[in-house]
Amino acid sequence: MTTRSETQTTLDHLLTEIEHRNPAQPEFHQAAHEVLETLAPVVAARPEYAEPGLIERLVEPERQVIFRVPWQDDQGRVRVNRGFRVEFNSALGPYKGGLRFHPSVNLGVIKFLGFEQIFKNALTGLGIGGGKGGSDFDPHGRSDAEVMRFCQSFMTELYRHIGEHTDVPAGDIGVGGREIGYLFGQYRRITNRWEAGVLTGKGQGWGGSLIRPEATGYGNVLFAAAMLRERGEDLEGQTAVVSGSGNVAIYTIEKLTALGANAVTCSDSSGYVVDEKGIDLDLLKQIKEVERGRVDAYAERRGASARFVPGGRVWDVPADLALPSATQNELDENDAATLIRNGVKAVSEGANMPTTPEAVHLLQQAGVAFGPGKAANAGGVAVSALEMAQNHARTSWTAARVEEELADIMTSIHTTCHETAERYDAPGDYVTGANIAGFERVADAMLAQGVI
Ligand code: NDP
Repeated sequence: MTTRSETQTTLDHLLTEIEHRNPAQPEFHQAAHEVLETLAPVVAARPEYAEPGLIERLVEPERQVIFRVPWQDDQGRVRVNRGFRVEFNSALGPYKGGLRFHPSVNLGVIKFLGFEQIFKNALTGLGIGGGKGGSDFDPHGRSDAEVMRFCQSFMTELYRHIGEHTDVPAGDIGVGGREIGYLFGQYRRITNRWEAGVLTGKGQGWGGSLIRPEATGYGNVLFAAAMLRERGEDLEGQTAVVSGSGNVAIYTIEKLTALGANAVTCSDSSGYVVDEKGIDLDLLKQIKEVERGRVDAYAERRGASARFVPGGRVWDVPADLALPSATQNELDENDAATLIRNGVKAVSEGANMPTTPEAVHLLQQAGVAFGPGKAANAGGVAVSALEMAQNHARTSWTAARVEEELADIMTSIHTTCHETAERYDAPGDYVTGANIAGFERVADAMLAQGVI
């Protein structure tokens, strides 16, 4: 029998090979390290997982598409962006994962997100594979007409790679209800098909699911609550720092407030706002969802309880809970040290990989409950899968039913991660629990389906 340390040596060699084969993709390397550094116990215990080629296949996307996206701005000037879709793994179902429109998007970023998505989707227990896509297009400051023309051009290539049984994109940074609408319209026009299940996050009058916009943020708060419950605590009366002010952040703040916590911050790339009275969600939604403005406008209009800190670190604000909900690597080692000094009890990731590896290590060493994104933010993709189920049955469920299903799924993910960590001698380590549990489900399906 192979020991854990011999297995880890093999996995370390594989990681070195991944770095050579995928140069200049640091985010993908980081995501691969995060998973492969926790798999030794399960690979050592179950020899079938050590089968040559299994993990090598898992880290290689099934398909990667890169395409030109030409479009005209309002002045008639031709712009050219780059589009991506990485179809990473379909052992459990059609590829599923969002589209990100942000200037930082490149192949390595999409591969990190697609790789994470495989394990996240497996953890939901639903029949969805892993994929991700997007573009280096920046929607900030663009008119509606420009965003529409961009989305139409993007879909004019993407349509040939997706389908309700093949690959089902959704939103992510820079892609919300408006963009999904334009993308769906162009898909329908090109294909002449009403194929509701080809995209999720649709509008509620035309195939969207109730609670899909809320699902990622709500789900993350439920996950944080479950971690606190394990420690004999609940959310009532806890102060929370939340980063971001987009889809995930807004509904994180909404659920925290509903469950009795006080969410005192939000942020965007210009800085953060701290509001001692708790974030006023109506005002934040008006500024972010209607006016598409910046967070300093919130502080200006809110009055004495709020102030805007340009370019600051939101993690400097003392709190019991931290819920990073903006982007990758936004919470580093120094931030983790500050949070620990200020007595943080739990960190739960609404964003994908927002906490650097060094910060995760520090938080876990200090005994802080740490919920990794692939478990804690899986509520969004879970409700996307419920949207697909409703589309397939040509029906729509009530908000109460979707929310109940979301709560059950989040409880089940928490239990699975918790129990798996205990089974592999890592009690309380949700990173190990999530990685191993997600891996087991995907690896079993891959082994059963042969070398493809
Ligand atoms: P949105 O575009 O709605 O909001 C993103 C927010 O994060 C904005 O406030 C944005 O500020 C801020 N932000 C983005 N990039 C940066 C950056 N480089 N530096 C500082 N701030 C930044 O995206 P979502 O809320 O949908 O996504 C947020 C995170 O959650 C992402 O990591 C995403 O992958 C993850 N996620 C989203 C899911 C979903 O259902 N939407 C599901 C699971 C995970 P600004 O406007 O100034 O750029």
